[in-house]
Amino acid sequence: MALIYCVANQKGGVGKTTTVVNVGDYLTMRGHNVLVVDVDPQANATSSLGMREKERSASAHPAPTIYEVLVSEQPIGQAIRTTRRPRLHVVPSTPALAGAEVELVGLTGRETRLRRALTSILQYYDYVLIDTPPSLGLLTINALTASRDGVIIPVQCEYLALEGLSHLLHTIDLVRQRLNPQLKIAGVVLTMYDGRTRLSQEVVQEVKKFFRAGEVFQTIVPRNVRLSEAPSFGETIFTYSPESTGAMAYAALAEELLARAKQPVRERGVR
Ligand code: ADP
Ligand code: MG
Repeated sequence: MALIYCVANQKGGVGKTTTVVNVGDYLTMRGHNVLVVDVDPQANATSSLGMREKERSASAHPAPTIYEVLVSEQPIGQAIRTTRRPRLHVVPSTPALAGAEVELVGLTGRETRLRRALTSILQYYDYVLIDTPPSLGLLTINALTASRDGVIIPVQCEYLALEGLSHLLHTIDLVRQRLNPQLKIAGVVLTMYDGRTRLSQEVVQEVKKFFRAGEVFQTIVPRNVRLSEAPSFGETIFTYSPESTGAMAYAALAEELLARAKQPVRERGVR
């Protein structure tokens, strides 16, 4: 049965999608079958994995996306696409998903639709990684509710890095109380670190103070231009620039996640 994680932070541009795509691809290189579920209307994970919305919607019978899965309850199996990478599959998103945030409000089981949809395909994967939009609306709530094994929180090493984090943690608490009692923080990952700036170093210290010991991943992802170039070629960092500092960091991060996944819950930094 697959382990399910989402990557969430309502701030945009902190490295959520980059983390989903590259951790996901690394896990496939370790022999795991991985499903990326794109729950962001911006569909950056979808396009990073080489899938083009224009081609999809131009066909006479466009294949379903996460939108049809959440709003019309179409079987998620029909929405799964293969990618160039063996063992890495994706449930794509589409800009129409922006409407789902409102459409879901009037529907039954509006917070649990993704969790229920995933049950039918969990047996085929080792890891499900859910990418979320930069908001704390129903799409992110669906992702948090579905994440049996935890939420990964990227924090950018930038000015005001901690801003908004208490709001995110409050939302996580609410979801844990009402929808997903198992929900825990799988780890906080510092991203876009620039060792030359004092600011980056200060953010690392602040974040380590803010979260409990063990909650912050030891791996810090450096700012690395290769990471930002790879998606435009539909590649992950491991095919685009396997020797880069970005590739090394995401390999180390994924290894940490694998090690944490093996530990009994009580030894982890559970909030
Ligand atoms: P989010 O999904 O949180 O909005 P992204 O993963 O899309 O964030 O990252 C925002 C932008 O920063 C993207 O253009 C991405 O390619 C770039 N980026 C992400 N991580 C890094 C990094 N470690 N170094 C350099 N650029 C990065
Ligand atoms: Mg994103």
